[in-house]
Parts: sequence; C-alpha cells; structure tokens
Amino acid sequence: MNRDAQKFFTLRFAGGTKERKLVPRLWRPAKSLPPARSGKPLSGLKIALDPGHLGGKWAKMEERWFQVGDSRPVQEGDLTLRVARLLATRLRHLGAKVSSVRSTDEPTTGKRSDDFRELARKILIKNGVPQPRADVLDSTDPEKEKTIRWQSEILFYRYSEIRRRAALVNFKLHPDLVLCLHFNAEGWGDPTSPMLTDANHLHLLVNGSYLVEELEFDDERFEMVRRLLSRAYDEELRLADTIALAMARETGLPPYAYPTANSTTKVGSSSYVYARNLLATRLYRCPVVYCEPYVMNSKDVFARIQAGDYEGTRNINGVERKSIFREYADSITDGLIDYYSKAREL
Ligand SMILES: [Zn+2]
Repeated sequence: MNRDAQKFFTLRFAGGTKERKLVPRLWRPAKSLPPARSGKPLSGLKIALDPGHLGGKWAKMEERWFQVGDSRPVQEGDLTLRVARLLATRLRHLGAKVSSVRSTDEPTTGKRSDDFRELARKILIKNGVPQPRADVLDSTDPEKEKTIRWQSEILFYRYSEIRRRAALVNFKLHPDLVLCLHFNAEGWGDPTSPMLTDANHLHLLVNGSYLVEELEFDDERFEMVRRLLSRAYDEELRLADTIALAMARETGLPPYAYPTANSTTKVGSSSYVYARNLLATRLYRCPVVYCEPYVMNSKDVFARIQAGDYEGTRNINGVERKSIFREYADSITDGLIDYYSKAREL
C-alpha cells in the first residue's frame, strides 16, 4: 500500500455514448438474467457463499472462540460453515448455481502466520513500537496487539485469507452475488469466562462509508472508484434491504445501532443496513451482502447454539424455535426469493 503517492485523481467521463467504455464486469444484475424457469426463482443465478472466519483449530487464534464452563465451545467459523451448507442446499433447490470460498475449517490461503513475522515486525516499528515483543503473554494481555505474534497472525487469518478468497471470487468463480455469513457478538471479556448479555440484534453491511485515512491509500481509492463505476452498489443495496426484511421477519431481531457512527452510515430503507468499508465488501468485484445476525454471547443465542441443529422446533428459554442454523439459512433464502422473483418479472 502506498500512501500519498498521488495527491489527487481526476476521473474523466466520456463526452458521448460512442466514446463510452464500460467497466468490465462479470456479474449480472437481476434484470439481465434470462427469464426464470417456473418454480425456480433463482435459476441461472451464480451465488458464492463466504462463511466468515475459519473455525476449527484456528478459532482461538482468530479470537472467535469462547466457552462457558464445560459447555461446547462457541466458534464463529464453525457456525457460519454450518449455515453455508444448509443455505447451499436450499439455493440449489431453487435453481441457483452455488459455490463457496471455503468448504472446510482449513484456510484458503497457503500462507501461515510464520510467513508474516518479518512484515509484522516492520509494521509495528512503523506504527511506533520500536522493539516489538515476540510473544503474547496470555489472552488478556493488554499489550498483545504490539507483539509480533498477534500482528503476524492477523496478517495470516484476516488479510492473507480474505485476499485469497477475493482472488477466487474475482478470477475463478465470477458470481453474480457474494453472501458473507457471520454471527455478531458483544464484548465477552475473558473467553474462558465470557460475559453473557440480553442484547441480541441484526444488521447487514454493504460497501461504502470510507474514512479519510482509508482513502489515503492508493489501492483503497482505486478499489472504491472501480466499485463505484461497476454500479454494484445499486444492486447490492436493494438486495441487502430485501434480505434484511426477510431476516428481521423470521428472526424477530431488532436493528443494531452502532455505538459510534464514524465508520458506518445507515443506508437503504429497511433500517437494518449499513455501509462500511470492510475488506471483503470492497475487494469482491460484484454485489456483496454481508450478514451480521445474532449476538453469539446473548443468553438466547448461546442456548440455541448449544441446542445444535435439529428438525422442526424446540422450546428454548420458553419459546418454540427452529434451529438457529435453519432459521438463518431459511430467512436468507426467503429474502433472495422475494428479491429475484420481483426483479426478474419487471
Ligand atoms: Zn464474523
């Protein structure tokens, strides 16, 4: 990344339609898809699923792991993979061609944290830590972010992994839409003795709301302009709004309100969608809808995760509920049916 290599950028528009050059794009908006086959509202649509994080043996490193007493540990990467598998079956049944950027709990990138130790050291020195420590003391170490271990691990499991997934999406899969699947959480403190909360909510993210300091990087500016010109935003915002309403209807969750508004902007009309500049929403060259339902360490969601996957309904904390994995997959499926049935009719 090169900061300030270029002080300004002029985007010139063509004088007439003859000189007009379209930004190459491999995804299709709903209205350019061939007519749907009867009973298959998603026929011909190419969807890539991105089950967030890694899970498995990586969950602790990713800080997407907590455990209450002797109960089954909660690992976000495992939960999202489970939802992706259920969702893929449902979407294929409706005629979609479904791929996934991850189908196991192993990384997509071939790199590992040790490959980034030297880079991690350089980043820390540049950011004002002249002699970074090699190791983290324990999970509650307040200075852990200033260690080579912590930095090299995040370069591996977040930056290298998401860039590798983006290469798959952009150069191999060429989907019409990417669905990023996550579970949200509130701060849980010590992962071996986590705080459980009553708060539970839903929100979805689309790309936007760039911060001044993010736009100082040439690559981020370039990716933003490419995205703007591809007009993915129009399609992804309408999709996100429609999916959000279906998820809200089926989960009964209220919209999340960000405590600070500097990196997000509420967009659309559903009151559940925010713009935010995340690596995945920026790098994937097609509409991207990033889902953040359920607070994993809320008392209700924790109980539902412990109950696992099951058919029908079960009584959880006094309410009859579907398995949380099926509710998640069903509500996204219904949102996609709502959106594409309507958009393909027009
Ligand atoms: Zn997540």
